[in-house]
Amino acid sequence: MLHNRKCIGCGTVKDRETMIKITYDKQNNKVIVNPSKRVFGRSIYLCYNKECISLALRKNRMEKMLKCKFPDNLKGQLIEYEQ
Ligand SMILES: [Zn+2]
Repeated sequence: MLHNRKCIGCGTVKDRETMIKITYDKQNNKVIVNPSKRVFGRSIYLCYNKECISLALRKNRMEKMLKCKFPDNLKGQLIEYEQ
């Protein structure tokens, strides 16, 4: 239970190891998809599926939750994770 996180798309709670993690590294002003464990910062989680990814992108939910601009190149990277 300790490692469960909530998807910001569909709201499902599941093991964070099975989700996409997106972290805003404030120190370096960088948004990182699936960062290493050394990266700390405000994070959000998403399922590896099209609905959740597009929902998060469409409503700018991620930007609001991370409190930063989400780079366009990362949007492309996220779309590649769609299954
Ligand atoms: Zn989801």
